[in-house]
Amino acid sequence: MYSLTKKRWQAIENRDQQYDGQFYYGVATDRRVCCPSCSADKGCEQRDVKIFKTEDEALFEGYIPCQDCHPFGEDSDKAMLVDQMKVYLAKNYKKRITLESMSKDFGRSTGILHRAFLTLTDETPQHYLLRVRMYHAKKLLRQSNDSVAMVGLKVGIPNLSYFNTVFKQENGLTAVQYRKDFS
Ligand SMILES: [Zn+2]
Repeated sequence: MYSLTKKRWQAIENRDQQYDGQFYYGVATDRRVCCPSCSADKGCEQRDVKIFKTEDEALFEGYIPCQDCHPFGEDSDKAMLVDQMKVYLAKNYKKRITLESMSKDFGRSTGILHRAFLTLTDETPQHYLLRVRMYHAKKLLRQSNDSVAMVGLKVGIPNLSYFNTVFKQENGLTAVQYRKDFS
């Protein structure tokens, strides 16, 4: 996360296109994320503004892409579907999610969901979900005293040995080591 510097606040106030791509900002009161040049009138106050470095960071924190400025891409049906899937995964990562359950909730076939996601992001929805879970697992390891098993449970991976395996795979070190190094 970036801090809200004077420059960035000015960029938001002036809707400065030059800053598009350099950062995103979210408004805590409505949980939307925008690019600096967004023309929607939000009347937001500085204290409600959060600055994000990346799309992932904004989405993993539970922000929803603005429907006026489409901060993460063009306004195509496919891009919107993928945005919706990302929001869904970031919102529901604590639960058990399968492509089948998403298919039911979206009213689209598993094949369509999978292909749209993979084509636009070069990543499967399952791996994206895993990265959301790892983001929150790392946050909990740094900021709480929860046991590793509890952390796994809280991020939707109740099987401890599976959690340990994927954690090491994704982060290059064990959860215990990660906690030692970063808290
Ligand atoms: Zn916007």
